[in-house]
Amino acid sequence: SGPLRPLELFGTDHLLDEDERDIAATVRKFVETRLKPNVDDWFESATLPKELAKEFGQLGVLGMHLDGYGCAGTNAVSYGLACLELEAGDSGFRSFVSVQGSLSMFSIYRYGSEEQKQEWLPRLAAGEAIGCFGLTEPDFGSNPAGMRTRARRDGSDWVLNGTKMWITNGGLADVATIWAQTDEGVRGFLVPADTKGFTANNIHKKLSLRASVTSELVLDNVRLPESAQLPEARGLSAPLSCLNEARFGIVFGALGAARDSLEAAIDYAGSREVFDKPLSSYQLTQEKFANMTLELGKGLLLALHLGRMKDEGGVLPEQISLGKLNNVRESIAISRECRTVLGGSGITLEYPPLRHANNLESVLTYEGTSEMHMLSIGKALTGQAAFR
Ligand code: FAD
Repeated sequence: SGPLRPLELFGTDHLLDEDERDIAATVRKFVETRLKPNVDDWFESATLPKELAKEFGQLGVLGMHLDGYGCAGTNAVSYGLACLELEAGDSGFRSFVSVQGSLSMFSIYRYGSEEQKQEWLPRLAAGEAIGCFGLTEPDFGSNPAGMRTRARRDGSDWVLNGTKMWITNGGLADVATIWAQTDEGVRGFLVPADTKGFTANNIHKKLSLRASVTSELVLDNVRLPESAQLPEARGLSAPLSCLNEARFGIVFGALGAARDSLEAAIDYAGSREVFDKPLSSYQLTQEKFANMTLELGKGLLLALHLGRMKDEGGVLPEQISLGKLNNVRESIAISRECRTVLGGSGITLEYPPLRHANNLESVLTYEGTSEMHMLSIGKALTGQAAFR
């Protein structure tokens, strides 16, 4: 038998059951045949075709870990593996699926009324509607408690004013979950995109996550009926619980970008001759591959451990922080190291490592920056909150 792929060497497939392996293989095939052949063009032209939403819906990955309402109801590990395979294509695809399933759909699933669930979840699961999640504001990212977006009661209506920033899928969305301060504390609202006073302005000139739509949302006297409020969401813990769901997907997802970078670098080094021998035959190159394979495999073991704990019903937010911090940090290091193996060829879109590394800059920052995850781990270890 020939050389082994990095995760074959680790043997992580042995830790999966048949369903989990099948789901990963199905998503991987879709990524190979439908997404990878186009990703360079989408990244270069900074587009994510809207019709992909329905294709993701048919693939069954939108809200796949939720039950009922047209959702697949898989376990958490399967959801993680799907994120990994999608992010092996591009972090933009995984971001779309994370926001749709874990932020938009999960906020409705966990905190919505039965009517809200019936109205939105089946369409969102099928990709016939697109959702987004607006928590971050221009002046409040790591500290969402400071949010200025305000919802005030006016008779039986709510009137919302404020600006949200860096919102994934904002310009594509049919419905936005918007978090706002009220006299009663933080509350969530479902804002249909065609509501008067609601505008999405897409952010341009991005150097990262180009195959993803990122937008500013402006709410200018947006008037909503009482039924638009998410009735079960009380306080900031509601949006934070949604972020915890999405972060779990990132713990796996980031490793997909790293795996794809590493496989591309190994393949390249096997055919590139330097000083009359294949680049892969030099000890420095092999040291890089050995170290990167270790970090990739260790990251997946950590992800699977957290996934099994989640499926058994008990994973703490601080434990998800361990996975998000480690796996994004190591994945970006791997993608950058792989770029060095490619030399000059590594700086164009012909090979994936630099595209992945650039995408991972966003992944390092969103869903809690690395620094905030370090501080949350620090608090868990010492009992002291060093971020205030
Ligand atoms: P800041 O909070 O201003 O942080 C700047 C720097 O200061 C960081 O390094 C940070 O770690 C550090 N810092 C902050 N506080 C402390 C502290 N107490 N101690 C030490 N260091 C600190 N948000 C949404 O609501 N929905 C989305 O769909 C969404 N999608 C996104 C997509 C992309 C591509 C990006 C880039 C962002 C997205 N975000 C989204 C926003 C993202 O969550 C925020 O960018 C992130 O939380 C950081 O906030 P900030 O950018 O305001 O940085």
